[in-house]
Amino acid sequence: MKYTSQRGTRDILPVDMPVWHNLEKNCRKLFELYNYFEIRTPIFESTELFARSIGESSDIVSKEMYTFKDKGDRSITLRPEATAPVVRAAIQNNLIEKDKITKLYYMGPMFRYERPQAGRYRQFYQSGVEVFGSKDPALDAEVISLSVQIMDKLGLSDLSVKINSVGCKSCRPKYMETLKEYFKSNAKNLCETCNNRLETNPLRILDCKDPSCQKHIENAPAIIDFLCEECKTHFEKVIYWLNVLNIKYEINKRLVRGLDYYTKTTFEIVSGKLGAQNAVCGGGRYDNLVVEFGGNDTPAIGFAIGMDRMVEVLKEHGTQSTEHRFRLLYIATLGDAAKKLGVELLLNIRKSGYAAEMDYIGKSLKSQMKEADRIKAKYVLILGEDEIKSGKAMLRNMETAEQGEVLLDKVLEEIIVRLQSKGSKF
Ligand code: ATP
Ligand code: MG
Repeated sequence: MKYTSQRGTRDILPVDMPVWHNLEKNCRKLFELYNYFEIRTPIFESTELFARSIGESSDIVSKEMYTFKDKGDRSITLRPEATAPVVRAAIQNNLIEKDKITKLYYMGPMFRYERPQAGRYRQFYQSGVEVFGSKDPALDAEVISLSVQIMDKLGLSDLSVKINSVGCKSCRPKYMETLKEYFKSNAKNLCETCNNRLETNPLRILDCKDPSCQKHIENAPAIIDFLCEECKTHFEKVIYWLNVLNIKYEINKRLVRGLDYYTKTTFEIVSGKLGAQNAVCGGGRYDNLVVEFGGNDTPAIGFAIGMDRMVEVLKEHGTQSTEHRFRLLYIATLGDAAKKLGVELLLNIRKSGYAAEMDYIGKSLKSQMKEADRIKAKYVLILGEDEIKSGKAMLRNMETAEQGEVLLDKVLEEIIVRLQSKGSKF
């Protein structure tokens, strides 16, 4: 093999497509029921867009970005997430207006230079939403509820919603100081990465999986006890609305997201069916980002679903959707005249909106029948020299093995009638 895919990337093969399509279809369906509109932003943006919003000291910006100089000497980054690009696009295209709510959704590949392992890739897919224009805690609950409805619709159980508040500009700094002091007093017991985080981003220590840090994380001060009046009330109201919507949740005082732009509500959906990489959805509020990007002061909230991990869970535990090609017609031909008629018919069947296929390898009639079976054709039209001469061809129902003659000058209509009907006579 001369070339192989890059480390951390993979080919998603036709065999897995029914699961992907089912996931994509259900995401779109639910997003549209909640009145979101799709937006597609470029795969690459200026490096600064991500560095500024996600935060220089975050794992994503400090370690995981695909950054390069283009031929015009600009620093370009392949998007590691879509919130920053969507915010940029919404401001640039004037989608955010005063006293209006803007609801956008997206679906597509993201790129992070991570150590590849199960559920962690360098190119992965996310589908998510962003809402601009409201700070109502009822909206936080609606957004969380939407992510839960998607999981429900896909037949997934054994999921839990973890929720926390990361405060705001006025209450977080005091908490950060306290946290820093706390971890500093335990510095010699923390892992090397966390020792570095002490200065740059002590909040991230709470997310460390290293056993030596775990003990200290458990006893660390919780942000929830440091929230200002506004953030505290907001959090209580989110909980109130989650209860109204009958959403089950767990308050997780240690939940901090890896992106600096979050304010107030943060949440994650975790699957009990996955190993270490068990978060299938992450989101939260980011009330300062629009103004930081030069837009009008506009509160916002969103989430991203990790589609690769969802597909893994769905393959094992979801409601399976089987993509039957049950209306497919195979045209088996023998001889030049039959092939010509076959090619014309193939075009017309497809133009009429039905799937059809024929042989382009030069197989024998017997092998063509086998091929029709392999590709799960519902009908096979057998066209040989005798059939051309007699003006009649044989049409075979591959499911029932019944067959009968059809007139060649009415062949298109005859076939379509059968492809349309559910229980035909053969
Ligand atoms: P994790 O803690 O697993 O690294 P994260 O906090 O970096 O996740 P987010 O930036 O919140 O993840 O992205 C939302 C979702 O996207 C995650 O919950 C996960 O399902 C998915 N995701 C993130 N990074 C990857 C990756 N490298 N490969 C596959 N899926 C990913
Ligand atoms: Mg990550």
